[in-house]
Amino acid sequence: MLDADFFRRWMTAAAASVDREADRLTALDSPIGDADHGSNMQRGFRAVRDALDKEPPATPGAVLTQAGRLLISTVGGASGPLYGTLLRRAGKTLGDAAEVDRRQLAEALRAGTDAVMRLGGAAPGDKTMIDALVPAVDALGDSFAAARDAAEEGAVATTPLQARKGRASYLGERSIGHQDPGATSSALLFAALLDASDTEAGHE
Ligand code: ADP
Ligand code: MG
Repeated sequence: MLDADFFRRWMTAAAASVDREADRLTALDSPIGDADHGSNMQRGFRAVRDALDKEPPATPGAVLTQAGRLLISTVGGASGPLYGTLLRRAGKTLGDAAEVDRRQLAEALRAGTDAVMRLGGAAPGDKTMIDALVPAVDALGDSFAAARDAAEEGAVATTPLQARKGRASYLGERSIGHQDPGATSSALLFAALLDASDTEAGHE
């Protein structure tokens, strides 16, 4: 079972990963965006990490809800409200349970992903974070490792697509041939989730 401590480790691992990969995320956002995705994500997840250090919420749902709220309030770009919605909706779906299992987390993240699709209007194939989130959530029913792999494959598979949502869509066909930055950061979140689960299982 996954408790609040597991969720805190997930968010802390995500913040560390975003710090490490910020330059790469910004580089991906240069040809098809405005070169701020790395700094946007870094600002947001640093705020999440600082809040978890100060007053850690007591339940899995509260950790995700607080993280989502902070992403919405600290990230300026489109990705803030979208990731904020993902985590807030997932947190609300988990309710106030002290522990949840992987399948419940998968269902909560599915509700979160659906909320992101409603908010941003993107569907799979539009070259957005949705292209990593949907396959990852599908695979999370099987295992954390399968979800990480599916997210990574989904992110890589955005390269040949033409963007139909977000800033990259302004480029039309010129958006083809570049990996989507938001799909790439979504893959980082699922890699961090696998890291947290490895620690959980005791094979650090
Ligand atoms: P901005 O585009 O405002 O500069 P970021 O650079 O932080 O924001 O984030 C860009 C990422 O946000 C894109 O790579 C894409 O994955 C995601 N994105 C943008 N618009 C949408 C949308 N409508 N639905 C889903 N994801 C979106
Ligand atoms: Mg940007």
